[in-house]
Amino acid sequence: MPSLSNTQPSSPSAHGSAASSQPASPRQHGATAARPQLSTQQRLAAFLAVNVAFMLVEFCYGWVNGSLGMLSDAAHMLLDNAAIAIGLVAAHVAAKQTTAEGKLYADR
Ligand SMILES: [Zn+2]
Repeated sequence: MPSLSNTQPSSPSAHGSAASSQPASPRQHGATAARPQLSTQQRLAAFLAVNVAFMLVEFCYGWVNGSLGMLSDAAHMLLDNAAIAIGLVAAHVAAKQTTAEGKLYADR
């Protein structure tokens, strides 16, 4: 059983090859050249879009077929999506540049 506390990269390719001149950052762990590098906000937005699409499909299917189970799970996904949207706002605020005094927003 692998240790849960092991934070070292398990892939040998993550340690950098002779072709890689840049030091590997933790964010780029396991990334390959073929995979586009997405920011946290972009990944969250994509995850939110997929979740909203699934929620809508689930709601329509539950509505058409009169399935209370599907409708209630669609409502559950609505709350999930609200949480993801809050995370997206938090990622946006965290990515903001600070002022010269190290504050996110100027004092009024
Ligand atoms: Zn959920």
